[in-house]
Amino acid sequence: MVGYNMGHLASGIVEVVCGPMFSGKTEELIRRVRRAQIARQKVQIFKPAIDDRYHESDVVSHSSLSITALPVASSLDILSNLFDSTRVVAIDEVQFFDQNIIPVIKKLARRGIRVICAGLDQDYKGSSFGPLPELLCMADRVDKIQAICTVCGAPASKTYRKNTEECAEQVLVGESDRYEARCRVHWDDHAEDEDLLAFSIPLKSGTNKDPKEVATSP
Ligand code: ADP
Ligand code: MG
Repeated sequence: MVGYNMGHLASGIVEVVCGPMFSGKTEELIRRVRRAQIARQKVQIFKPAIDDRYHESDVVSHSSLSITALPVASSLDILSNLFDSTRVVAIDEVQFFDQNIIPVIKKLARRGIRVICAGLDQDYKGSSFGPLPELLCMADRVDKIQAICTVCGAPASKTYRKNTEECAEQVLVGESDRYEARCRVHWDDHAEDEDLLAFSIPLKSGTNKDPKEVATSP
């Protein structure tokens, strides 16, 4: 699918695949790219130059699927490297791009291009990552996918960073040596949020009874 054909106007489309590390974002991006290539659409794949974990230029999944990409240092480099004939643009690790990625993606979509983005919606602390909030908001289609919790095997929506005392920066490029997918229960770096809630909502267990329940209890 390349956008929607509205008579003489081809409208672009913005798709986002988000979720924690190991959830299969890159696999899904590669799957969509391969299908577009089967449909003989010209595809260009970009990734931020910062992501050189597996390969300088390829986009590589944790399950070793790979596809050739162009590493770029900034969002605007996507526009300067774009071919006239390109119908589909795929961007992996989109969370590492600067805020200009938003107007760049809008411009691509306005040109009738299908833009497929994959990236982390949250960092290891559970805060939103880079341009993702605005990107999710302006997207036509969002797929939020889950990994498997490394502790209990439940669906995992969080990325857990091991050894946080080593480095507390938001960006610390790493793999399973540094990160794990975790469910909410086993991702326990949210203690600060809980303290805040305890301050503003003084909830003691057993004290907040629904009046209807009290009235009907014997
Ligand atoms: P992402 O781009 O979201 O980090 P990838 O597409 O690179 O994810 O890798 C997904 C693959 O990672 C899975 O198909 C699986 O083979 C592997 N994998 C390793 N650990 C996990 C995990 N905890 N949960 C799910 N998949 C995992
Ligand atoms: Mg990935």
